[in-house]
Amino acid sequence: MEITIGHLYPDLLNLYGDRGNIMALVRRLEWRGIGAKIREYRLHDDIDFAALDIVFLGGGSDREQMLVCARLREIRSAFADYVESDGAVIAICGGYQLLGEYYRMGDAVIEGLRILDVRTENEPGRLIGNVVIRSPLSSMPIVGFENHGGRTYIGEHTPLGRVITGGGNNGKDGHEGVQYKNVLGTYLHGPLLPKNPELCDWILRAALLRKGYTSELAPLDDTMEITANRAVAERFAGKMAKRP
Ligand code: GLN
Repeated sequence: MEITIGHLYPDLLNLYGDRGNIMALVRRLEWRGIGAKIREYRLHDDIDFAALDIVFLGGGSDREQMLVCARLREIRSAFADYVESDGAVIAICGGYQLLGEYYRMGDAVIEGLRILDVRTENEPGRLIGNVVIRSPLSSMPIVGFENHGGRTYIGEHTPLGRVITGGGNNGKDGHEGVQYKNVLGTYLHGPLLPKNPELCDWILRAALLRKGYTSELAPLDDTMEITANRAVAERFAGKMAKRP
């Protein structure tokens, strides 16, 4: 069994070490004796979604998002088919915004993929800082770091989690991120997956199941990951983080 991770536009969408998420995915597969391959795509490369098991889109500045969005619209239909056939996707911050309908900055509008029914508006001030959320996808709190001017409104979608500390999607409704099928969109950089091993395994399980691998994922020694997670959660959310 081998999992192929497609990294879209690492030269343009790679803020705050988002690449570390890919390393976490690869290592947690390899530690279990499952093969892992990374394919990096530049802006004008063709993407064979049928060959991919996990697609990763990192964060990018407004300018970089503008460069990427035209190309994403060209590959929209193949990307949407991949999502609807339960393909796994992790999209962080700028990448998350691009999965939605648009990201509006005053008169300028970055058109998104419309894979998620979410909209992002640039509003005054930025949401910057450590974030702690509670999510049904992880028994531990999920921790990360956010820095965004866009405020995302997810409508009828299911959030990834409920904010305990931080701004989340828009600083108002207490939601962070989105989970749709096997797609995770989130504002959490950090990088996210090394500090949140259960979330990493959730994605891996989804990708493996889609390939017909039904065995349980072998447990790993997550002492380091749990210690890192707990240090952040307790520092920024204290006792709140322990609530179920
Ligand atoms: N440019 C977007 C914003 O500020 C995304 C930034 C990011 O990916 N950190 O909202």
